Amino acid sequence: MERIFNFNAGPATLPLVVLEEAQSELLNFKGTGMSIMENSHRTKEYEAINSEAEALIKELLNVPENYRVLFLQGGASTQFAAVPLNLVSADSHADYILTGAWAEKAYKEASKFIKANVAASTKDENYNRIPRRDEIKVSEGPAYVHLCANNTIFGTQWQSFPDLGNIPLVADMSSDILSRRFDVSKFALIYAGAQKNLGPAGVTVVIVRKDLLENIPASIPTMLRYDIHAKNDSLYNTPPCFSVYMVNLVLRWLKNNGGLVAAEKRNAEKAALIYNVIDSSEGYYRGHAVKDSRSLMNITFRLPNEELEKKFAAESIAQGMIGLKGHRSVGGLRASIYNAMSLEGCTALAEFMKTFQTNNG
Ligand SMILES: *Cc1c(COP(=O)(O)O)cnc(C)c1O
Repeated sequence: MERIFNFNAGPATLPLVVLEEAQSELLNFKGTGMSIMENSHRTKEYEAINSEAEALIKELLNVPENYRVLFLQGGASTQFAAVPLNLVSADSHADYILTGAWAEKAYKEASKFIKANVAASTKDENYNRIPRRDEIKVSEGPAYVHLCANNTIFGTQWQSFPDLGNIPLVADMSSDILSRRFDVSKFALIYAGAQKNLGPAGVTVVIVRKDLLENIPASIPTMLRYDIHAKNDSLYNTPPCFSVYMVNLVLRWLKNNGGLVAAEKRNAEKAALIYNVIDSSEGYYRGHAVKDSRSLMNITFRLPNEELEKKFAAESIAQGMIGLKGHRSVGGLRASIYNAMSLEGCTALAEFMKTFQTNNG
């Protein structure tokens, strides 16, 4: 059977070579006579995967010495609670920048445990852009300011991160981690569910500055504690072995293909193919995001009417492209083109968009 072009927002497409490698090792991992799924997480084979994945993230993202990389469970959604519980003491508070549905969820979850302020929001414009620096009103002495780097549902992305002086930044990078270079040292903590850019669902990467592990309140649940997971090298309890193994293969693939410098270039090229069709369609395709907030990972766009949007979604499936139907809060279409989406997939979509307009213009 032919592989289709999978534009799903997540779980998302994975590199074919990674899937083939996993397939080749599935029944007998490195001469152990069993799959990595059946292996104990206390074996040297699994420990090698765990430490290689950690080392590759540090290398690819240029993570400074004073940070830890953790592999946790519960998805990015669990981090919505873990971040405030670990980082905010009883007499403190945190600020949230609302740029979409996930940022809102992070804010609402934090509000259950701590005093959370909204430092900026573009909700009134249906989250079609990232706020300007002068719109961000940081409160007096927050424990951190939380932002969502890439807004998966609305198709916007921070082009550069705001400089907030000494205030620690916390970022949800679930849908754009390892898609471009950025300065990790600007952040106190970064978290990302794996199933968009890193591998299959089941593991969440947390990159945390070591000094933040010193003052975690005694009262919070063990499984949510960054200090416990750091002390145990992410092996406090049974980790999602197969997911971490897959993430490690994806990280090797990224490194073998030129690291983040090359990934960034490929991603810009891929996104330009589709945005160029939108911009030269004379208004037939209308992007949801304003231009200077456009995401290179999730491209959201509308057609002249909902009938045509339905037709577009149905015909694209017939052409071997799935997952293009947009999220209900934006409507229209969404193309998720993470690291593992090929240039061929983006070219096929761009060509289909042009043909569709010609036939239905
Ligand atoms: C998908 C997504 C989430 C939710 O991730 P889960 O792992 O399903 O909890 C959170 N934030 C962003 C930006 C996402 O894209």
